[in-house]
Amino acid sequence: MKFHEMEIEQVEKALETDFSSGLTQEEVKERIKQHGFNELEEGEKQSALLLFFSQFKDFMVLVLLAATLISGLLGEYIDAIAIIAIVILNGILGFYQERRAEKSLQALKELSAPQVSVLRDGHWIKVPSKEIVIGDILKFSSGDRIGADVRIIESNSLEIEESALTGESVPVAKHIDCLSNPSPGIGDMENTAFMGTMITRGSGIGVVIATGMKTAMGQIAGLLQSAESQETPLQRRLEQLGKILITVALFLTLLVVVIGIMRGHEIYEMFLAGVSLAVAAIPEGLPAIVTVALSLGVQKMIRQKAIVRKLPAVETLGCASVICSDKTGTMTQNKMTVTHLWSGEQTWTVDGIGYQPTGDFYRNKQKVIPKDEKALQQMLIFGMLCNHSDIYQEDEEYILDGDPTEGALLVSAMKAGLNRSKLLEEFTIIKEFPFDSARKMMSIHVKDKQGRHFIVTKGAPDVILGICESILWDGKSQFLNQDKQTRVQNAINNLASNALRTIAIAFKPISHNTVILSEQEAENKLTLIGIQGMIDPPRPEVKDAVKECKAAGIKTVMITGDHVITAKAIAGELGILTKKSKVVEGKELSQMTVEELEAVVEDVSVFARVSPEHKLKIVRALQNRGHIVAMTGDGVNDAPAIKAADIGVAMGITGTDVAKEASSLVLLDDNFATIKAAIKEGRNIYENIRKFVRYLLASNVGEILVMLFAMILGMPLPLVPIQILWVNLVTDGLPAMALGLDQPEENVMRRGPRSPNEGVFSRGLGWKVISRGFLIGIVTLIAFMIIYHNDPSQLEYAQTIAFATLVMAQLIHVFDCRSEISVLSRNPFGNKYLVWAVISSLALMFVVIYYPPLQPVFHTLPIQAKDWLLIIGLSSVPTFLLAGSFLLRKTK
Ligand code: ATP
Repeated sequence: MKFHEMEIEQVEKALETDFSSGLTQEEVKERIKQHGFNELEEGEKQSALLLFFSQFKDFMVLVLLAATLISGLLGEYIDAIAIIAIVILNGILGFYQERRAEKSLQALKELSAPQVSVLRDGHWIKVPSKEIVIGDILKFSSGDRIGADVRIIESNSLEIEESALTGESVPVAKHIDCLSNPSPGIGDMENTAFMGTMITRGSGIGVVIATGMKTAMGQIAGLLQSAESQETPLQRRLEQLGKILITVALFLTLLVVVIGIMRGHEIYEMFLAGVSLAVAAIPEGLPAIVTVALSLGVQKMIRQKAIVRKLPAVETLGCASVICSDKTGTMTQNKMTVTHLWSGEQTWTVDGIGYQPTGDFYRNKQKVIPKDEKALQQMLIFGMLCNHSDIYQEDEEYILDGDPTEGALLVSAMKAGLNRSKLLEEFTIIKEFPFDSARKMMSIHVKDKQGRHFIVTKGAPDVILGICESILWDGKSQFLNQDKQTRVQNAINNLASNALRTIAIAFKPISHNTVILSEQEAENKLTLIGIQGMIDPPRPEVKDAVKECKAAGIKTVMITGDHVITAKAIAGELGILTKKSKVVEGKELSQMTVEELEAVVEDVSVFARVSPEHKLKIVRALQNRGHIVAMTGDGVNDAPAIKAADIGVAMGITGTDVAKEASSLVLLDDNFATIKAAIKEGRNIYENIRKFVRYLLASNVGEILVMLFAMILGMPLPLVPIQILWVNLVTDGLPAMALGLDQPEENVMRRGPRSPNEGVFSRGLGWKVISRGFLIGIVTLIAFMIIYHNDPSQLEYAQTIAFATLVMAQLIHVFDCRSEISVLSRNPFGNKYLVWAVISSLALMFVVIYYPPLQPVFHTLPIQAKDWLLIIGLSSVPTFLLAGSFLLRKTK
């Protein structure tokens, strides 16, 4: 059907919908059944089976399988079957880890999928865009992406950028009239908006005419599927390191094999041992465990209300040195309530809480009836008219649909007994120029019942003052001379110094035949009526969050469009503005170059009355000073700064789709404290990755060295291949995963941010890996030698002792890995996952040592009680020797 050729009433009929109340839930269900979900089909996904088999494509695993096959052919059935079983088990573990990582990434994608405002059963509600059906009524405004193809039925200066479809980046103005062109191109469809296109200005309402693959976007969807790489810098570094480690491991393994053969071991025996050792020593599981740790951390962040949209941000979070945050809604509650009103020489106060529209007005502490106070009444009426929000009651509660600043103006008017629907019977709104953060005001062109036309403007008082030529004073319009300007300025400062956000209301009569086309034409030569001052209390948790950030070497900078004095008052309250720090205003910023800003930026804690485009300059200046910057934002114009920042943070509630798409982190609760929580988690995830990298590598070093030293010393193999593989699977795998879930160390937010260029082995990690690994290898060898030398005929028993010592040494060492400082610096049993992982690894070790049917498989013999003393004593050495040296250093 050609909806663009129809009048909107015809569209309503054709789509069997109702523009005033929308579809009902039943109709929606029915339509989803009929047309399916509003989704673009995705490309083929890797099947589970393929993913499972891909676990065995690793070269060394294939060599191991081949070697096992040979040993099977040579009659070593038990060994062959056992090794294959372990390889399969390893594969299942790898499959499970990768699956889990993939699933959580998918869940993340769904969580950050856009929500749309839709009219259902007479109410505007938010639903995931997937649930939109044909006939749904959608509401959208600047910064939103359109969720489906819609025929526009209401347009307030609506402009849409359609480059995703047309390649044309100049926005197209949209209207509701029908088009006469029967087959216009997409770019000419001025009464239709398309899925995936972006609103750059204004707001509108549309009825859905096509969903999913039937949309214009659906037709070209195949072109859009791009898989963005989600690798983090650490993952990349580990990958490079992995290559080096493989080479080293292979070289050492080869050395073991060659020396072993030279020392008279059988070629076949050494070959299988060598391959097993190579499989064990190559940290092939590392990338998967890193992904699992990252995605588990990401899930933990979700519980703390932060969604990471781009995985690399998890790491960058840990490096953040400056957080630039919006004030309104992020540091404050965004629950505005008008408490003071000023006009001419008079100030009124009004009481009441939140959006509850009950409260009384007072002048000089005397209760007044607003209707009797002309200027007050006019200010309240215009504040209610020049307004785009709505307050409705649901179960005793008053709910705001729209901008809290406007909500406060509605409530103040409602407290005076005014009602918007009744006002709209007296006044007709002819045109609206929506609010934007750069102009800092909004205007309407209205007509009253007597046919008189007005422009009504509301906005930031200092800005409005600049476009007023007169002022309402003692009930009369008077010229805004210097004296009056100073008095208004004093009134603004007075309100702002009490941390009140201020909105001025102004108007001008115009003749009935004037056509106002642009905001420039509307917003000049106005008469100022008065100012409403509203409180927006700080969020209670922000003060502590700012303090914690400070201790963690992270500076907090407030960036706000609000008045400088209001900003200062709140920044002072939150501990952001100190005696030494500076405040810079938007107008100064406009005149500075990035270089000039760079020279002072370290000292600035508050940027006030800024426009979104200033944010980019601030990010650049801070980055040039070597900072890793987190920058928040919500509007379309914030997107460039969000993108340029190292960590772009978008607001989940008030944020536009465009801001969210540009961001790497979305705050579900718009709360500053959540950024802090995410940074803390980001630091912890990185530390946890370091912990298990350290554990796994030290274990591998130990495994290789014990074999190498034994060969050099001309001894028999201290471990048989299946034991090596078992250690690799059981002792290494589970505890390493548990380390990935470790809680942060106490001082994680008391040290400075990490350098983003830090290598994997920095901060002593390399030394820890080598020293612990070396000691683990040595004690295992000593345990083996003691038993073997005592009675060389007891080789299998000595191997069992070596196996147990190696396992025990690693399981004790894993507790050491929990701290960067020492095993003694935190409660070793604080991580319950780790305790259980260690208990299960121990149990599995006991099973293969003491369960008779498994003894021939693992070449083990039951260890006697007295030998456990030797095992425990030796296996504690690597950890406690170094803990002792730590204590010694500490007491010195
Ligand atoms: P932040 O950047 O911290 O979120 P903000 O919300 O105060 O700060 P803007 O939304 O850009 O920043 O608002 C700037 C100023 O514009 C406000 O101080 C207020 O005076 C005025 N203002 C805000 N909202 C409206 C609105 N809906 N209509 C008219 N003026 C508004």
